[in-house]
Amino acid sequence: MRKKLIAANWKMYKNPEQTKAFFHEFLPLVAGHTRDEIVVCPPYIDLCVAIESCKGSNVAIGAQNLYWEKQGAYTGEICPAMLLDIGCTHVIIGHSERRQYFGDTEETVAKKTKAALAAGLIPIVCVGESLAQREAGHTEKICHGQFTGGPGALTPEEFSRILIAYEPVWAIGTGKTATPEIAAAAHRFLRQCAAEKFGAERASALRILYGGSVKPDNIEGLMAQEELDGALVGGASLDAKAFASIVNGCESAR
Ligand code: PEP
Repeated sequence: MRKKLIAANWKMYKNPEQTKAFFHEFLPLVAGHTRDEIVVCPPYIDLCVAIESCKGSNVAIGAQNLYWEKQGAYTGEICPAMLLDIGCTHVIIGHSERRQYFGDTEETVAKKTKAALAAGLIPIVCVGESLAQREAGHTEKICHGQFTGGPGALTPEEFSRILIAYEPVWAIGTGKTATPEIAAAAHRFLRQCAAEKFGAERASALRILYGGSVKPDNIEGLMAQEELDGALVGGASLDAKAFASIVNGCESAR
């Protein structure tokens, strides 16, 4: 049975002081959970404070992006080893906002994922179609393309160390959550892509998170679907009580 994981994507919100206050309120609310079930991904400037705040707790810290080179003249970028050195364990790669505004492509997603894995980080690789693509009936084609060019470019061993987040772009930050059935169908399709490329065993071990307007009141319905192995939460993860209630809702849906 795949272990569920709930990850928070704070995007470009919170400063170090607000980060500290968040964990002061959040950690006692999720104290019963085991490590590796909860991952919080704040902006780069908050990572050290977040790691310090979560020392000895059951919450892991991840980044929202990285650059694939090991070091060098790459102004404004952060390499995988820098994240690992400060204590990050996870990294989000290929979020739709990075694809949309910052030029991430299947190729850069594959490069970033390989670099993250080589350093020992756990990548959470995002895929998902836009509203226009869904309405045109291209959901599977888009997911297949993003899978093949990104995670599909990994070696089988590399692939066994990643998580995928299915995040339909039309559901991100819009309040329009995919129904549990729509999400489960997309997850099944992605697992099928994984099975074709890497075999049934690796595909069935792959954890696929759902992301897109996950809230305390819809988490249980989503997690009741066997295909959903957790969630990647944006807006609702900024509030300690709301995010704790999502984590606890995931637990009670088992
Ligand atoms: C996200 O940013 O990955 C996300 C899913 O955002 P939201 O939960 O706000 O839709």
